[in-house]
Amino acid sequence: MSTPLAPLVDAFNRRITYLRLSVTDRCDLRCSYCMPEKMEFLPRKDVLSLEELHKLALGFIDRGIRKIRLTGGEPLVRRDIIELVRALGRKLGDGLEELTLTTNGTQLEHFADDLAAAGIRRINVSLDTMDAALFQQLSRRDRLSNVLRGIAAAREAGLKVKLNTVALKGLNEAEIPFLIEWAHTHGHELTLIEVMPLGVVDEDRTDHFLPLTAVRESLEQRWTLTPSEVRSGGPARYVEVAETGGRVGFITPLTNNFCDGCNRIRVTATGQLYACLGGAEKVDLRAALRSDDPAARLAEGLDLAMRIKPERHHFKIERGAAPAQPRHMSLTGG
Ligand code: SAM
Ligand code: SF4
Repeated sequence: MSTPLAPLVDAFNRRITYLRLSVTDRCDLRCSYCMPEKMEFLPRKDVLSLEELHKLALGFIDRGIRKIRLTGGEPLVRRDIIELVRALGRKLGDGLEELTLTTNGTQLEHFADDLAAAGIRRINVSLDTMDAALFQQLSRRDRLSNVLRGIAAAREAGLKVKLNTVALKGLNEAEIPFLIEWAHTHGHELTLIEVMPLGVVDEDRTDHFLPLTAVRESLEQRWTLTPSEVRSGGPARYVEVAETGGRVGFITPLTNNFCDGCNRIRVTATGQLYACLGGAEKVDLRAALRSDDPAARLAEGLDLAMRIKPERHHFKIERGAAPAQPRHMSLTGG
């Protein structure tokens, strides 16, 4: 019997069990807070092949990663994505406890059944607005109806759909209660997210930064919110809404730091491991994978990642300031 490999524990004694794996940095939307209209994508030759992504994920599972979220960019625009989902789905119950994905939903109606058949049980779909004109303004594409069909198809396929909404001052701010009501009526949980200063975009994010402390106060005027003990293993903190019978999550990187309980690492589509979403610390796992001794180099790379993972991020939103990191969320995997 082979000896189990050492689990991943960082210098702050945090056990790392969750991998967010970006399978592409490309996307069919151009959300204005995420990327500029003229986004430059990575050269295809630099992106990991399907086999490399699979091998990498297996290496992480051997080191105690129990949950993998496929993300991007938009994971469902990668042509061979479903093959990766099927291959990783076969590890469920055999080292891997959960396989999931975050999507913008535009292609979901074509993939929902296959995702469910491969063993995916829950997915996150990003939905910032249900107003077609605002959707087009925010994402620079006219795809709201595709997204709504995608969410319905996922539901019909038996997938549990959690909605993610970036709270944006003066844009979807007034619509937030309606989005929550709609989500709860359709059996979805909804998590609100504060916009983060990652990568240069065509606007100043300060203009639309909406602290969730303010959103929560305004929701409290309307509804009875009870803090929930439920934890999803991530940074969200939840409240139950008495009037709708549903749950709302708050992800507050700016107004309430949550790094103490961090259990995750991120790998880009080119195999760069980022130890923190808000930090520059990284390890080149593609070089490890393409070396003469991938298993040994990968093990060294993961050990190094545990030593350099920072204690916390230092996000600040300040008018005119450079982003906390030059890379966009679509590269590191949101
Ligand atoms: N394309 C997929 C999607 O939109 O769900 C997956 C990748 S996207 C980068 C993941 C999440 O990050 C989305 O919910 C998106 O709204 C969020 N996001 C992107 N840029 C962000 C930023 N600068 N601050 C906060 N959230 C951001
Ligand atoms: Fe694409 Fe997701 Fe970024 Fe929007 S948030 S541009 S859907 S990667």
